[in-house]
Amino acid sequence: MAAKGIKEPAEWLETTIKNFINESPENTLQNEENERAWADPLVGYSRGDDPLYQEYKEKIGAFYWTPTEIFNETFPGLKVEPDQLTIISWVLPHVQATTSDNRMQSVYPSERWARARIYGEEVNAKLRGHVVTTLQGSGFEAVAPMLSPQWARKTSERYGLASTWSERHAAYASGLGTFGLCDGLITAKGKAIRVGSVVARIQIPSAPRPYNDHHAYCLFFTQGICGKCISRCPVGAITKAGHEKVKCQKHIRPTTADYVKSHYGFDGYGCGLCQTKVPCESKIPSKQDVEMYESL
Ligand code: SF4
Ligand code: SF4
Repeated sequence: MAAKGIKEPAEWLETTIKNFINESPENTLQNEENERAWADPLVGYSRGDDPLYQEYKEKIGAFYWTPTEIFNETFPGLKVEPDQLTIISWVLPHVQATTSDNRMQSVYPSERWARARIYGEEVNAKLRGHVVTTLQGSGFEAVAPMLSPQWARKTSERYGLASTWSERHAAYASGLGTFGLCDGLITAKGKAIRVGSVVARIQIPSAPRPYNDHHAYCLFFTQGICGKCISRCPVGAITKAGHEKVKCQKHIRPTTADYVKSHYGFDGYGCGLCQTKVPCESKIPSKQDVEMYESL
């Protein structure tokens, strides 16, 4: 579909996303100081007919949506083909105060981190809605898979805990980052992030994907070094074999949920220790970053 009066759709959407995060009062941790939840975002694009999306479905499970499936489920009258769709993906980096706070923690999340997990994710949900509304206001049908009433948690035969759509997999396909030993996405702004995406009937070229391997930015896989996320995990959910999702989830809920309620006074949870005080926290790590962390 031709851009309806929008000459540069990639720039238009990037500006929409960045303005929402950088200028809107919605971007808040909802603490007394009304601090921002997220720093300047990264934005990437991938095509609906990118073979990666079919590959995800084959590997994760039949329940996993391709972009075309969730789009056509949302707009059953349109019946689009994969090459008519673009996936708009973004990375929201934690502000420095949040990562600094969480670096000091060894078992439970800092208050800012827990706030970002709950109120920051509310900002992310509003951003998804804002991107959809902006696109639809200009005549482009769009859906945020995570906001779809059909989105559900599932169990993958191969990977265990899973869901019908993964924001991190959309970000990987959109050139924004690769997976680390702990399963987190390592991006140009590091791994202390959250991600979001929207599928739209709009033509935008895919962003360059500067990697061929899904572990390309993790030094454990590329150079056999680092593994700093292993010792950061308070419950041993990360080993050289990878991330044990069930062990991780049991720590997050109920353990951290009880802590957040009793110490910070709101209903929340979170952890992110493996996302902070590690060489990939705020950047794509190098060997020198690992050496620096070894001297801490
Ligand atoms: S801390 Fe090291 S091993 Fe863990 S994800 Fe980051 S780069 Fe990979
Ligand atoms: S989020 Fe926390 S519990 Fe889960 S793997 Fe990371 S450090 Fe471990």
